[in-house]
Amino acid sequence: MIPVLMPTYNRADLAFAQGQGSWLFTEDKRRFLDFGAGIATSSIGHNHPHLANAIAEQAKLVLHVSNLYRIPQAEKLAERLVEISFADSVFFCNSGAEANEGLIKGIRRAQFKNGHPERTDIICFEHAFHGRTLATLTATGNPKYLEGFEPRLPGIKHIPLNDLEALNKAVDEHTAGFLIEPIQGESGVNTVPEEFLRELRKICDEKGLFLGFDEVQCGMGRTGKMFAYQWTDIEPDIMSLAKGIAGGVPMGAFLAKELIAKHLTPGTHGSTFGGNPLACAAANAVLDILLAPGFLDHVIKTGHYLQNELQSLVAQYPTIFEAVKGKGLMLGLKGKLPPAEIQNAALHQNLLTVAAGNNVVRIIPPLIISEEECKDGANRLAEAAKQLQKVMEQNS
Ligand SMILES: *Cc1c(COP(=O)(O)O)cnc(C)c1O
Repeated sequence: MIPVLMPTYNRADLAFAQGQGSWLFTEDKRRFLDFGAGIATSSIGHNHPHLANAIAEQAKLVLHVSNLYRIPQAEKLAERLVEISFADSVFFCNSGAEANEGLIKGIRRAQFKNGHPERTDIICFEHAFHGRTLATLTATGNPKYLEGFEPRLPGIKHIPLNDLEALNKAVDEHTAGFLIEPIQGESGVNTVPEEFLRELRKICDEKGLFLGFDEVQCGMGRTGKMFAYQWTDIEPDIMSLAKGIAGGVPMGAFLAKELIAKHLTPGTHGSTFGGNPLACAAANAVLDILLAPGFLDHVIKTGHYLQNELQSLVAQYPTIFEAVKGKGLMLGLKGKLPPAEIQNAALHQNLLTVAAGNNVVRIIPPLIISEEECKDGANRLAEAAKQLQKVMEQNS
C-alpha cells in the first residue's frame, strides 16, 4: 500500500513533539542534540522566545494579505537586508528552489532588457545543489535526481569547479551569467576558493554577465558572517537565500543590485504567499537575533571550538573519520564509511546530523549552540565512532 505521505524521503522512524534551543524531544521525552537544525534551517534554535512571540503576535493581527497591498513587515525586512548586503532590492518567496528560479529569471530578464536576448545561458558547477523544481533541478545537474524527469531546461550548462580552462571555454555569446554556491552544502561542504570566485567576477565585469550566488544554505549567519561572500573581497550581482532566513518558517528571497532588479517590473514575477506578514515577522525576529552585538562573533568562536573538537575526533578515530571541512557552523565531517552509516551511529547516541555527498556528514547546528553543547555532541560522535569500530572489527 502506498503511504499517505508520498514516499519521496528516507525518514528515520522518529518523530519530535517539541524542541528547546539545540535539543529536540520525542513524545516519550527522549532527548536529541540537534546538529542538523532541520538542514541548516532552525537557525536560532527551537522555541526561541523572541521568534515564538513575534510569530504569535503577528498571527493575532493578520497572517496574509497578498501582494496586492503594501506589507510593512516585508518593507522593513527588505530595508534591513539591503542595508547589510551588496543588494539594492529584494524579492520574497517561499523556498530555496523558488528563490533560485527568480534569480535565474532575473539574470535572463536583465540581459534581455539590456539588448542581449541571445544571452540566455546560466553556467553552473558540478556537484551543485540548487533545488528540485524543473529549472533548479537542471541547475543542480545531478543525474541521480534527474532520472525520469527529463528533458532538462535548455540554457543551463555545467563545468567543473576551479577549472579556469573549462570556464573560459564555456563562456560564449549565449552566456547570461553564473550560478554558484560559495560553499557547496548538499555535495559535502566544499568551499569554493576565493581566487575562483574572483575569476568569475572578473569575467562578469569584462563581458557584462551577471554573477549569481546561491546562499540558501551558507547565508544568514551560518558561516559566522551574515553572508558567506563577505569572507571574500567580491560581491555577486544577485543572491538567493532561504533555509535559515526565518528560523524554520518557510521563506526564500533573492536579493539583487539595481541593474537587475529594475527589470523585474510589475507582472514579470510573483508569488502569492511570498513575503507575507507572518513569514516577514518571523524573519525580522531572526534578524534581530543575528544582528545583536556579538552574535556573529559567537558563531565564529563556537565554530572554531567545534571544528577543533571534530579535528581531534579525526585524530582519535582515523579508521572512521578523515577530515573536517567548512566554516563557522557550516561544518562537514568527512568519513571513511558511507555518511548514512555515521549519521545512523550518531542517531543511536541521540545526536542528529545530516548526511551529504562525498562521504561527508554535515554538522550544522542551530547558531545559538553553546560550546558545552558542542562538546556534548563531540562526545556522542566519539561514542558513535567506537561503536562503528567495534562493528568493523567484528566483520574483519
Ligand atoms: C536546500 C537548498 C536549496 C533548495 O531549497 P528548498 O527550500 O529545498 O527549495 C537550494 N540551494 C541550496 C544551496 C540549498 O542548500
